[in-house]
Amino acid sequence: MANDASGTAAITVAVRVRPFFEAAVDSTGDVGLRRIVQVVDDRILVFDPVDPNSRNQTRTYNHGSRRHKEIRYGFDRVFNETATQQEVYEGTAQPLIDGVLNGYNATVFAYGATGCGKTHTITGTPQDPGIIFLTMRELFHRIDNASSEQLVDSSLSYLEVYNETIRDLLCPSPSNQSLDVREDDGSNRVVVAGLSEHRPKNVDDVMQMLIKGNENRTRAPTEANAVSSRSHAVLQIHIRQRDRAAGVNASVKMATLSIIDLAGSERASVTKNKGERLLEGANINRSLLALGNCINALCSERPNHIPYRDSKLTRLLKYSLGGNCRVVMITNISPSSFHYDETHNTLKYANRAKNIKTKVEQNSIDVTAHLAQYPKIISELKAEVEVL
Ligand code: ADP
Ligand code: MG
Repeated sequence: MANDASGTAAITVAVRVRPFFEAAVDSTGDVGLRRIVQVVDDRILVFDPVDPNSRNQTRTYNHGSRRHKEIRYGFDRVFNETATQQEVYEGTAQPLIDGVLNGYNATVFAYGATGCGKTHTITGTPQDPGIIFLTMRELFHRIDNASSEQLVDSSLSYLEVYNETIRDLLCPSPSNQSLDVREDDGSNRVVVAGLSEHRPKNVDDVMQMLIKGNENRTRAPTEANAVSSRSHAVLQIHIRQRDRAAGVNASVKMATLSIIDLAGSERASVTKNKGERLLEGANINRSLLALGNCINALCSERPNHIPYRDSKLTRLLKYSLGGNCRVVMITNISPSSFHYDETHNTLKYANRAKNIKTKVEQNSIDVTAHLAQYPKIISELKAEVEVL
């Protein structure tokens, strides 16, 4: 039985600006690309500033004779291009951990155009690991420390949504068949039938799993980026815990932490997709569009219909977005004028998402009322009663 709502919380929206890689001078010697994002402080940035280096300069026009937009945005956090993985983790996912260990669902997702740093932020590399690794390291540590008082069971799954099909990234089926999303009415959980669950022994195991899983992600060449990942990758960590001392009538706290690396948000026109790629683009957009529509619906004062059913991604995230969940959106942007429209669109999307209110509830169930659902817990409890 879920407890009553314990409050409302807005989605946290962070923006991370990746380093400026593109040559500022093109092959003809023209100053082709310029910086279009100025980070003012850890909450404010300016898109398309007049001149980030000289605030007193008179208003100028760029080479496309377009007036500088000079739009000031405020977010919960802004990370500039020198921010470390640890700093981004501390400002986004880390504050969710207490809640997850107290039975509150949580979601972190990276949104942005291809090449703007989503996978770097979420997965990173073994030398410079990202949010999943840093979160799992802390979770393992916290669970270890609490193990004398708590019985904790944690498991992990990793899937992709590609072309509106769901595939297991850790145990891909040879037939490429889509896994089914089902709603488990009793527990307010979405279940993916046949998805493998894993119990990594330590955090290095997690990194190996991620690398293996990411190799299984569907990739396809597009004009925007030859190895762009065209799928949404969803890592879920399920945690169930119970006080050892409280005996058989103790309630079990359950929470799911979802960490999601979304597919590129650029529109089909940028990639000039054709044929199959176009269909793929349409489906990717369908999931992202549905995500945007759910976000919009959640923004309204009295959201009565949230269109979760419009795509696989949003069905999967039904209890991870507006329902029983705390949400952090990491918006990855490029500071280069090469990505002018994508960065502008991404910032507009992120700005809209700031208005989501989520109803946060603690998940706890009465063990005695749900014995049939939890045979594993029962056997653990029995074993403990026998010891006593
Ligand atoms: P996306 O997943 O959004 O398509 P990636 O994470 O693959 O983008 O980033 C594109 C490239 O930029 C990669 O080579 C990545 O290593 C690099 N990169 C992105 N963000 C950063 C960052 N903050 N610091 C250093 N390199 C980065
Ligand atoms: Mg990527």
